[in-house]
Amino acid sequence: MKIAMVSEHASPLAALGGVDAGGQNVHVAALSAALARRGHHITVYTRRDADDLPHRVRIFPRVEVVHIQAGPARHVPKDDLLPYMEELASGISRDWERHRPDLVHGHFWMSGLAALDATRQGPAGAHIPVVQTFHALGTVKRRHQGSADTSPSERRLLEPAVGRSADRIIATCPNEVFELKAMGIPPGKISIAPCGVDLDLFPGTGQADRRARTHRILSVGRLVPRKGVDVVIRALPLLRAAGFPDVELLVVGGGGDATETERDSEPRRLLAIAAELGVRQQVSFRGQVPREAMPGIFRSADAVVCTPWYEPFGIVPLEAMACGVPVVAAAVGGLRDTVVDERTGLHVPPRDPESTAAALARLLADPGLRQALGRAGQQRARSRYSWDRVAAETEKAYLHTLTGAAGRSHEARGQLHPVKEGAVL
Ligand code: UDP
Repeated sequence: MKIAMVSEHASPLAALGGVDAGGQNVHVAALSAALARRGHHITVYTRRDADDLPHRVRIFPRVEVVHIQAGPARHVPKDDLLPYMEELASGISRDWERHRPDLVHGHFWMSGLAALDATRQGPAGAHIPVVQTFHALGTVKRRHQGSADTSPSERRLLEPAVGRSADRIIATCPNEVFELKAMGIPPGKISIAPCGVDLDLFPGTGQADRRARTHRILSVGRLVPRKGVDVVIRALPLLRAAGFPDVELLVVGGGGDATETERDSEPRRLLAIAAELGVRQQVSFRGQVPREAMPGIFRSADAVVCTPWYEPFGIVPLEAMACGVPVVAAAVGGLRDTVVDERTGLHVPPRDPESTAAALARLLADPGLRQALGRAGQQRARSRYSWDRVAAETEKAYLHTLTGAAGRSHEARGQLHPVKEGAVL
């Protein structure tokens, strides 16, 4: 199959850990590579965000990334990209004059818009089915972030419209299916395929980095408030009171090296909280860490803590599990499925420093429990979340789509345009 992936802001080539570069970048790169291993040909279309990027670049056998000029050739926050989706769609459909795909897979709602638009501009009579993975949903984001949500107001109408217009939606977990149904997406159109973990990059055994204190707990991810790193910081004084004074919280992720990261607003807010609680010396920021260095960091920790307010999926817990490290996870979104409470980690309510501290204290006090949870996590990651397995499930959804879409004309989708006035949604 020839598959076009559209990932407007999340390039497989980007450095990870910045505000807009994380799980989606990993997902698109790893899924493309795994589908290519199954014999498919993948082209990933992403927005050109620097002048010096080649137009077309091969990143794995049978996987190419194409940088499309759509808006300025520099980083633009993802929530400001909507006005450029029409240009992105035109660039993609131009490329299809020579490289026509059998199917297009949009990642994130704006890519879905561009994918649908490109199929309308494409060669006459050529219905190209559209599969959509949202990665995050505006309804959920609004519920949790309220007025702090920087999504464009159009998302409210356009995201469900993408869901209705796409031929098939791939949800990454059952909780997302629930949210999609609440958005009005017919359940018969939804398939589930989770995110995966690169088991070659994150093998069960290997070197662990050295640590500075008796215990290390680790937080990994984009440094945005909803990831709830403040919850872990607030747990530190409680851990101290519980008899664990020598604990380091290492925070990985950010917009550059450690020094650059500490200048950004969210790390500064987190450091101020740590200082106020008298645990500043226990918190350190590593900044952006390249993929190859992640396994040693995971293995250096007694526990990985993921306490977001909400989480569409969350690849970090899978990586920790693959490395045999227990996970303390807020029982939200995808984390409810990946982390099995009392088997591969411990669930805690979201935004709850007391429960987080209690779970961590249990783990720090009990090396046997850490080992048992770590071992079970490793088995679970290996048996259920390899990218090869995820690619096989995704391929099934593609085949289902191609069969169902046969004979449908693209007029059947109706019009849906990101910026034009009077769009019919
Ligand atoms: N990551 C990384 N280096 C960093 C920070 C994060 O490689 O400095 C990776 C991390 O290992 C994981 C991804 O970025 O693969 C984050 O994905 P996740 O799904 O957990 O969070 P999202 O970014 O989707 O919110």
